Amino acid sequence: MNSCIKCGKCLQYCPNLSLDEISAKEEIRRIFFSKPQIHKFNNCSSCLSCEIYCPQGVSIIYDKILERNYKIISRKGFPSYVSYLLPIFNKTISPFPLRFNYKKNLFVQIRKRYLRNEKKLIKKWLASISHREQIEDNDKFIFLGCNQRLNPYVFNLSIFNEMKIIFDENICCGEPFYRMGLMDYVKKNISVLKEFFSKYIDKEIIFICPAGYNMFKNIYPKKFNIDFYFKPVYINDWILENINKGKIKLKKKLDYSVTIQDSCHGKYMGLGFLMQNREFIALLTKDIIEPKHSLKNSLCCGLGNFAINSNPFISFLKGLKRLKELEKTNTDLIVSYCNGCVITLSLIAFLVGKKTKIYHTLELLQMALGDEPLHMHKRRAKDLIISFLELLILNFSF
Ligand code: SF4
Ligand code: SF4
Repeated sequence: MNSCIKCGKCLQYCPNLSLDEISAKEEIRRIFFSKPQIHKFNNCSSCLSCEIYCPQGVSIIYDKILERNYKIISRKGFPSYVSYLLPIFNKTISPFPLRFNYKKNLFVQIRKRYLRNEKKLIKKWLASISHREQIEDNDKFIFLGCNQRLNPYVFNLSIFNEMKIIFDENICCGEPFYRMGLMDYVKKNISVLKEFFSKYIDKEIIFICPAGYNMFKNIYPKKFNIDFYFKPVYINDWILENINKGKIKLKKKLDYSVTIQDSCHGKYMGLGFLMQNREFIALLTKDIIEPKHSLKNSLCCGLGNFAINSNPFISFLKGLKRLKELEKTNTDLIVSYCNGCVITLSLIAFLVGKKTKIYHTLELLQMALGDEPLHMHKRRAKDLIISFLELLILNFSF
């Protein structure tokens, strides 16, 4: 709070408020002097822009929103359907009452709809759990988190064959709980993560999910003063490095023009991170056309909004607006390096009957390596909706 210079940039660049300079400065002063606010933050998308644009690197607005959310959830609890969508596997650290059925959430329910190949893949990932084994000096580690469990078929890449997969169905990086403001839970989860990652001190661990990567690389050290003593590496940096060294050989360049959906965590990590992803995508495709809001001004796919507001209808509308903006580029494909964005935009496209082609960057890589990705996002969107409806029925009768 002390380092804030009351410049108001956070509120000027907030895509939901977009205040002019004078109003933004006035609002900040009101917050500082505990006067009633003129503008409410009810439509926050959890997009992190207020932090990104702060010249002092402080997080007054976002922290305030998280704190407010925490108070609301502590007082009222979640709507029960939100708990079905969260990766909660550990009763002892859960923010939910004990009557919550931990075995019935989307990450468990979706297993029933896995293809045979996906079941095999999950078995392989579980068998590779390196934290139960002795670690060798030349082992390469890749961490697969919760959201890879919703569509494992995307992550069946030959380049991962030689790697040790760190995958445990009881482990979550904690990002969804951080985005909801559940700081007690985040702190309890940190002790679980500390123990889980204790074997990897000084090792490099590759992260597929930009959210998980950002949690370990920036959020935990910066906001919680926690170091896990391993080196997080981002997957696309690692792939790019190996393409440049000739260790990963692309067989073809894809004849697609693409537009890019950036992740909120990607924005948080800055222009260098965003441009590195573009460098990678440019190697794979013919052309990149940016949407109206791109790079540091990119908009949330709707998932971040759901994390902070728990309102599926508003999140859906925000996501739909973003999807339409991406479609306006008239490119062949919409591409994202964030699996959360891929799943959310695919769900929205499915719900409104759009045929938009949405791809994960790793699917593009698969094609450029000469393999054919399964690319069944539409079917998986349907699976997720059916699984969610099943959960409503199952939890109702619990
Ligand atoms: S997180 Fe995004 S939407 Fe929320 S207050 Fe900050 S800039 Fe605005
Ligand atoms: S939090 Fe940062 S961006 Fe917002 S008024 Fe303070 S210094 Fe400016």
